[in-house]
Amino acid sequence: MYSSRFKKLHPYTPGEQPQNQEYIKLNTNENPYPPSPKVEKILREYKAGDLRLYPDPKAVKLREAIGEKSGLTPDNVFPGNGSDEVLSFCFYAFFGEENGPLLFPEHTYSFYPVYCTFYNIPYTKISLKEDFNIDLSRFLDTDESCGVIFPNPNAPTGRLLPVDAVSGFLEKYSRERAVIIDEAYIDFGGESAASLIRSYPNCIVVRTFSKSHSLAGLRLGYALGSTDAVAALMTVKDSFNSYPLDRLAQTIGEAAFRDEEYYKEISRKIIKTRERIFTALKNQHWEVLPSSSNFLFARKPGIKGSELYGRLKKAGVLVRHFDLPGIEDFIRITVGTDEQMDRFLETCSRLF
Ligand code: PMP
Repeated sequence: MYSSRFKKLHPYTPGEQPQNQEYIKLNTNENPYPPSPKVEKILREYKAGDLRLYPDPKAVKLREAIGEKSGLTPDNVFPGNGSDEVLSFCFYAFFGEENGPLLFPEHTYSFYPVYCTFYNIPYTKISLKEDFNIDLSRFLDTDESCGVIFPNPNAPTGRLLPVDAVSGFLEKYSRERAVIIDEAYIDFGGESAASLIRSYPNCIVVRTFSKSHSLAGLRLGYALGSTDAVAALMTVKDSFNSYPLDRLAQTIGEAAFRDEEYYKEISRKIIKTRERIFTALKNQHWEVLPSSSNFLFARKPGIKGSELYGRLKKAGVLVRHFDLPGIEDFIRITVGTDEQMDRFLETCSRLF
């Protein structure tokens, strides 16, 4: 009864979502602060009767709002049901078996190999530098590739490439192949590569409302790209589901995107907390990678990553551990509120 295609799947394992609130939840990089008060207002006043009608399949108003803020036209914006869906459509539209493997960093977002298996795309992992930074020159050493994808900042390391390193790479890499920059965490201290889209139509920037906009539960992400690239993504969407974004998500997304000041303020708070915890962990003799995201990647010499994770969980603190060679002793700690992080630090100093 099951297809051979299905039998080959290796699904992604999302971080735990415990159904009770007994944990300090620092494991899935959610924002600890609520979304903009404007979102709350929409939810309070929403007329349920409007849900009779299908949503706008082209999400025009949302794309206008995103385009305006990004200095682009709505035709440069492709929104979808979380950036995971947008990424999946990008893999389908831009990467294939024909031109060699897709290149991505050795340690990166673990959904990328899952999409490759799903769409039958060969891939090659490119090693990181010793300091866990991405070295884009290593991506140029491979003879053949069907494209490149990397998060900036990278996940789960949190390390950021400056935008001139990205443009330097685009200048040297083939203009015939797509380069996708996954900017899920860019609002926590990085500079977006969105301005490069005009000069490099093979560059696609993917972003999400889940992290800096506190809307992980709504499922909203988008790609910024050339009008051709966006039209291609629309073709994929309309071959799969014409309405991946419901009416409420489109309305909330538009309002959220227009309340920039609010989001800048909560991002500033998260950055401040991150820097404080970075220093505090170092003072507790942890090795912590510099981070430009809303999480820290850290290890405590002499203690296994699985043990850090397990003992913290027992003590009521959930973090993320990836049991992968090279990063097996690290844990990824989402930056929560100051109060949550104080409890995290106090638990660490007691346990380790
Ligand atoms: N890219 C990266 C690097 C991520 O860490 C995540 C979150 N797991 C995503 C994309 C997907 O985020 P979402 O689907 O919530 O937009």
